[in-house]
Amino acid sequence: MRIVIFGAPGVGKGTQAHILSEKLDIPHISTGDILRNAIKNETALGLEAKKLVESGNLVPDDIMAGIVKDVLSDKSCEKGFILDGYPRTLEQARLLDEILKSLPVDSQYFLAIDVDDEVIVQRLTNRLTCKICGNIFNISDLRDLKICPKCNGIDSFFKRKDDEESVIRNRLKVFHSTTKPVLEYYTSQGRLKYVDGTMPVDKVAEELLQEIKA
Ligand code: AMP
Repeated sequence: MRIVIFGAPGVGKGTQAHILSEKLDIPHISTGDILRNAIKNETALGLEAKKLVESGNLVPDDIMAGIVKDVLSDKSCEKGFILDGYPRTLEQARLLDEILKSLPVDSQYFLAIDVDDEVIVQRLTNRLTCKICGNIFNISDLRDLKICPKCNGIDSFFKRKDDEESVIRNRLKVFHSTTKPVLEYYTSQGRLKYVDGTMPVDKVAEELLQEIKA
């Protein structure tokens, strides 16, 4: 089963992809995570992508093409995958179509999570990530800002550089100008299903699973 999950930054794509990955036992491929790891490890890709990612701009399509071709053709994706963060441009959507056509036949789902921009800004400016377990939290849901409730890590929270308000607003601008046409591309083919991302996390997951079963 192959799932492509869409939505503006902060709609909860990563959280939902993580839940679906556990429930369906297929890997979660996040192009944002791949880039952030490359930046952390200071690889050639990381050095090239750092400024763009941290300012909320897109990494060029040709660089993303190499990453996506490699990862989706990897053995770990044989049983399927949940792709989060790709495609973000029409060029990327066309390449993904080609890649999917080249893979053995399997069911495919294109799902979008929908949330208003102002709700997203609120969510992202209050978002913290645990550097040990990778879980994401809202500041208001944390009883203690020093201890991670999932892994008990101490002083492990950090705020992503691209979660500063000015960067979030730029990421939303990029989403509306460049990625919205990708959603229209899939909608015009009758392939995209929308789910309301303002519901509680488990309800959103339930609706996404229902779309897959439908
Ligand atoms: P995300 O975690 O998906 O919000 O991605 C974080 C950042 O990584 C984005 O703001 C972009 O700078 C970069 N990025 C991730 N996926 C892509 C992509 N498909 N095309 C271009 N840039 C990307």
